[in-house]
Amino acid sequence: MEDKGIQVAIGLKRQQKVSTVSQSPLEALKEERATQCGSSLRGSYGRNCEHKKWRYDDLVARMQDKEMLVDWLMAEGLIAGGRLCPLCNEKMTLTKCEDRSDGWKWGCRRQENNKRHKTEISIRKGSWFEKSKMTLEEVLKLTYWWCQDLDQAQIKHELGLGESTGVDWDSFCREVCEISLLENSEILGEEGKIVQIDESKFGKRKYHRGHHVEGQWVFGGIEQDSRKCFLVAVEKRDEGTLLPIIQKWIAPGTIIVSDCWKAYCNLENHGYEHRTVNHSVEFVNEDGDNTNKIEGHWRHAKCKLPKFGVRKHLFSTYLAEFIWRYTHRNEDLFEVFLKDVKQIYAPTMVN
Ligand SMILES: [Zn+2]
Repeated sequence: MEDKGIQVAIGLKRQQKVSTVSQSPLEALKEERATQCGSSLRGSYGRNCEHKKWRYDDLVARMQDKEMLVDWLMAEGLIAGGRLCPLCNEKMTLTKCEDRSDGWKWGCRRQENNKRHKTEISIRKGSWFEKSKMTLEEVLKLTYWWCQDLDQAQIKHELGLGESTGVDWDSFCREVCEISLLENSEILGEEGKIVQIDESKFGKRKYHRGHHVEGQWVFGGIEQDSRKCFLVAVEKRDEGTLLPIIQKWIAPGTIIVSDCWKAYCNLENHGYEHRTVNHSVEFVNEDGDNTNKIEGHWRHAKCKLPKFGVRKHLFSTYLAEFIWRYTHRNEDLFEVFLKDVKQIYAPTMVN
């Protein structure tokens, strides 16, 4: 009985448009596989109701075949869902292809003025996947593991990547954090709110002959009652360097708590209320102000940042990664990352 029912259902679907309720075969396949994987493939990754955060199995479920994967990537806007032919400006057709690991490509073979043209464009164009020779699946796994904070050596091992590919992708991911922070960061403080500021030296301090000092000064601030923070790599920590950063990042009227470093002595003249903690005699001043939060932040940052061998121009991207992870600490980092990727790459019909 049941078999017959299924056959009838399939027969109906083959005739098409008989039932408005029935699913397409691809939909049915997706659902069946989703059940097998114990996760729901329906809807957006942001609306996964089975569990709040992405798990590796959820990703595996979406990568079972190219059809499902490409369908999902397009639905999420991670690759463009359509493309215009650069020759005739008409919509291109998504066609299956065996010669690319993606399994699909955009093509156009329209005839114009009695001449047929043939254009082909990768489905990756304009997307996060464009700059890579890896398969889509490999890029997704790498992205997922990076978000999970797996170290570079482990990711390299799992995907069999070469040294430079591993390093490149690590820096592509950090770049996403950096751009995301640049585009989404908010000013700290306001009238009556407290922001702690401090400077700290990162990296190993090696005193070689010739007084060569390694390390990087970082200046930072953190709002006392939130997760809002900024960290900026600086060459010097004089007033001329730090004051413009304070003015850029901290709203006027804010109560700034710092140690007694001389670069901060004019803050009151620039619209801030300034409270100091003299670390040579106390850790909490008479009014209970302290810089514990920013100091905890430094400790945390120093554990996470590479201890040595980081070239200065890369240092800011490591700081960005740290702040990005800190800011989104209780969120699903893979989901946040994909959102950032979409915002930054935003593949369209023409880019
Ligand atoms: Zn064309």
